[in-house]
Amino acid sequence: MKFETVFDDFGTLVFSEKVMKERLPYPVYTQWKQTMSKENSLDRVTADAIAHAMKQWALENGATHFTHWFQPLTGSTAEKHDSFVEPDEFGNPLLRFSGKSLIKGEPDASSFPSGGLRATFEARGYTYWDCSSPAFIKDNILCIPSVFVSYHGESLDKKAPLLKSLEAIDKAATRLVNLLGEKDVRHVNPVVGLEQEYFLIDRDLYKKRLDLQFTGRTLFGSNPSKTQELDDHYFGSIPTRVSNFMKEVDHELWKLGIYVKAEHNEAAPAQFELAPVFTNTNVAIDQNQLVMDILKKTAEKHNFACLLHEKPFAGLNGSGKHNNWSLCTDTGQNLFSPGEKPAENIRFLVFMCAFIKAVDTYPELLRMAASNAGNDHRLGANEAPPAIISIYLGNYIEQILMNLIKTNTTKVVTDIEGNPILGLSYIPRDNTDRNRTSPMAFTGNKFEFRMLGSSLSASTVNVVLNTIMAEALDSISSELDGIKYIQDVRDKGLEICKKILTKHERILFSGDGYSSDWISEAAKRGLPNIPSYVESIDSLIDPKSIKLFTAYKIYSEKELIARNEVLNDDYCKTIEVEVRTLQQIIKRQILPLLVKEIDVITPILNLNIVPDYVTHRLNEITELLNNLSKKNNELAHDFEKVLLIDNLHERGLKIVHEIMPLMLEVRHIIDAYEKISSVDVYDIPLYGEILFGNR
Ligand code: ADP
Ligand code: MG
Repeated sequence: MKFETVFDDFGTLVFSEKVMKERLPYPVYTQWKQTMSKENSLDRVTADAIAHAMKQWALENGATHFTHWFQPLTGSTAEKHDSFVEPDEFGNPLLRFSGKSLIKGEPDASSFPSGGLRATFEARGYTYWDCSSPAFIKDNILCIPSVFVSYHGESLDKKAPLLKSLEAIDKAATRLVNLLGEKDVRHVNPVVGLEQEYFLIDRDLYKKRLDLQFTGRTLFGSNPSKTQELDDHYFGSIPTRVSNFMKEVDHELWKLGIYVKAEHNEAAPAQFELAPVFTNTNVAIDQNQLVMDILKKTAEKHNFACLLHEKPFAGLNGSGKHNNWSLCTDTGQNLFSPGEKPAENIRFLVFMCAFIKAVDTYPELLRMAASNAGNDHRLGANEAPPAIISIYLGNYIEQILMNLIKTNTTKVVTDIEGNPILGLSYIPRDNTDRNRTSPMAFTGNKFEFRMLGSSLSASTVNVVLNTIMAEALDSISSELDGIKYIQDVRDKGLEICKKILTKHERILFSGDGYSSDWISEAAKRGLPNIPSYVESIDSLIDPKSIKLFTAYKIYSEKELIARNEVLNDDYCKTIEVEVRTLQQIIKRQILPLLVKEIDVITPILNLNIVPDYVTHRLNEITELLNNLSKKNNELAHDFEKVLLIDNLHERGLKIVHEIMPLMLEVRHIIDAYEKISSVDVYDIPLYGEILFGNR
């Protein structure tokens, strides 16, 4: 096929609704549509027909294998490929793909983390087709988005709980919208837009840094003189090599039906961002996994390395993933839009207040869901959102809500001057006075959660957002249930808003989230400030969380305990790799380099007059060598002791409080050496070379 423009092959690798409509017999297509709108479950005949059409389409588009594409608890994606070809009874090749293979798979996935949910005798997990996210072709493989569950039906992945949380919020939000008088709304779906930040560096330099290769971040190295202080990178011109890379990324993503919108330089040199247009949550999260995958693969093709780590370089901006979230009805309305009709004011206010209540009730869960070992270097580090959860509404909306508390009447909302507001339509859609230091900002008609780490799956954050919001909405609905007249419902709605705001006002903060004043102010307000990821993990098994998640059937208590275990384990393993990598680098690279520095000086020491500089340098180098060797032994010794702690949470805490500071001390010694190292000896790429080496 010949393409006229780069957009002609948009979506060609997706088995989209349009393709289904074209290729499926009409009754099959209708049956599938009914399954989508939750009116029907999928029967075997329909599944067989879809599988057949999917196979035909995939083969025509170059696929040779199929796989159930799923998201294990590692946070990445997994796939086990099966070929379409099988021998028939005469031994001739037959291309086969049944409804059964489409619906269910049995990957040999016993090595994925399960937190003890699978004993070895029943180690198999099962994958089931998630028909709400379209199948696609990647590297000639038909990928079928799937959930991953254990033999006993416990979820072992990131998607299954997400789908449950989407049902929970759909039900709760629809119930409240209906109570508020809009009976035609039958479903409410959260929609999500995920902005992805990343670093792009030259691959040859990357290959010379074992730390980047094994841990995704630099374990030593310091800021060159020309970095982001110059601010010429942000929205600056993109180097040609990078621009060629981006063109290919765009094209690959377009083929997968992903509407990529923006690409520009971020605050740090070599840092960039990619933002697809928002879509329904499940698809948006699947697409984000593909975005990360394509970024990495395309980088390799262009001899780049794409770093998705939250903090690849100390002293420079880290990378996040902004989770833009709003609620959309099946009638096409955004529930966080202030709206045109006065009748909708109350709906906007009630949904805003529900959100405020939800976030203030479960800040620990949000903090946990947005974090991993990498994000510890970013959160609260004076450049990313602080580790304290707060909401920024923009002065205008905050004023309106605050006036609601102050005014005595529950019937009229006033603006800043005290004039009654009939429609909120004049609220600027794009609230321009954004506060970039806020972890959770209301931006016109959506909430932007900026705490999430760049390498993380966006799934858990959305599970939390959906579930806590469902609970807040349900508690409001319970108060409105049974009220007969719509005007009374609205009056009562305003009264509830007032009550919520009085209780949860403390979560609203429009000041500078990076300032130290905020830390003490937040403490006064009683807002939790959980400094490390490990300390936040236990929020999963807090009685409050267990009650919430089991009530909404998102996770069972057993599943929560298992997930808690997996997260603690993952943290400890991540740092173990870092410590081992650092030790290897020190022993095999840095210490020998220091010895080489001495070798270079030694002949000069035999001169009659030894220059002071040389004596001084010898002392300096010798001291660094001794200190580094000593500190490294200390780190090795302490770390082996930490590994003896069986309880993973205890081990994690010891790592945070004892091992991480030691790693930092080691780093400081290496960095001090790097600063005085001689150009002829020091052969490890420096920050400056890496950050400006992508041109
Ligand atoms: P920025 O935060 O960089 O200013 P934008 O305002 O352009 O970026 O949007 C960021 C992301 O938010 C994009 O992915 C966009 O599609 C998404 N987005 C826009 N409107 C909504 C909405 N109502 N709900 C969820 N996401 C949205
Ligand atoms: Mg943003």
